[in-house]
Amino acid sequence: MPIAVTRSTTEILTPRALAGRAAIVTGSTSGIGLGIATALAAQGADVLLNGFGEPAETEAVRRALTETYGVRTEYSPADMSRPPEIRRMVVDAMEAFGAVDILVNNAGIQAVAPVEEFPDERWDAVLAVNLSAAFHATKAVVPGMKRRGWGRIVNIASAHGLVGSAGKAAYVAAKHGILGLTKVVALDHANSSITCNAICPGWVLTPLVQRQVEAKAAQEGSTVAAATKALLAEKQPMLAFSTPEALGALTVFLCSEAAATMTGTALPMDGGWTAR
Ligand code: NAD
Repeated sequence: MPIAVTRSTTEILTPRALAGRAAIVTGSTSGIGLGIATALAAQGADVLLNGFGEPAETEAVRRALTETYGVRTEYSPADMSRPPEIRRMVVDAMEAFGAVDILVNNAGIQAVAPVEEFPDERWDAVLAVNLSAAFHATKAVVPGMKRRGWGRIVNIASAHGLVGSAGKAAYVAAKHGILGLTKVVALDHANSSITCNAICPGWVLTPLVQRQVEAKAAQEGSTVAAATKALLAEKQPMLAFSTPEALGALTVFLCSEAAATMTGTALPMDGGWTAR
């Protein structure tokens, strides 16, 4: 058989590889979602931002992405715990960009309490935002992706999708659940050029984790610096946070042609957390 020289992977990962694609990133007004939205925009994708926050700050972020990367940007205040608002967000993105090629289900909240004291309404809220929202958004974007014969769905799960931690019943259940959803969506669309993968971050220093560090410091009567060190030491052998930028880069890779046959996976970026 003759030896064929094929395009190298680095050639497939061309600059602005996502130009002409349109993305929704849920929960992208802060933290990991903002890192992912920025990375997608830097690769040329139009991006719809979503999440809560100061309207002036959100508008400044939206404008900065457009001015820095020359892409179209939109903002939707849709509440991910409300399915009609999720469907409206998808329609808004389609009207603004003409399509939704990439969906990143990232919005997430946390609640910590022993299971017997876990407030019912917090359980419902965590499941709604961290799991059911991904189902509703996926259901809304898939018909268009099928029509156009291309789609990428990236679910931001967690190391807590793979292992548990005390006090996090709702979060761990939701994150394990989203890995199951990821596999089924991947299999349902295995022949439609639509991939669905999950990323499982360990600790990333975002407002969500900052609040947990501050609670830990208050509970233990220690400083925030000591609580941060203890938080990393307990779970993450590398003793370093992953960054929103690195998670953005992994998302870009999953959206690239190089990842065309990766689907149904759960990719940890966790400093060794789940290696133990
Ligand atoms: P964050 O608190 O910094 O950001 C969460 C984003 O979700 C914000 O934009 C917020 O406005 C938005 N949001 C919250 N509730 C919403 C709702 N009902 N509707 C719409 N938007 C809503 O958190 P983060 O750390 O960047 O977390 C992002 C994702 O990454 C979450 O799914 C989280 O579970 C996951 N994650 C985070 C870490 C970490 O260490 N930070 C680790 C593993 C997984």
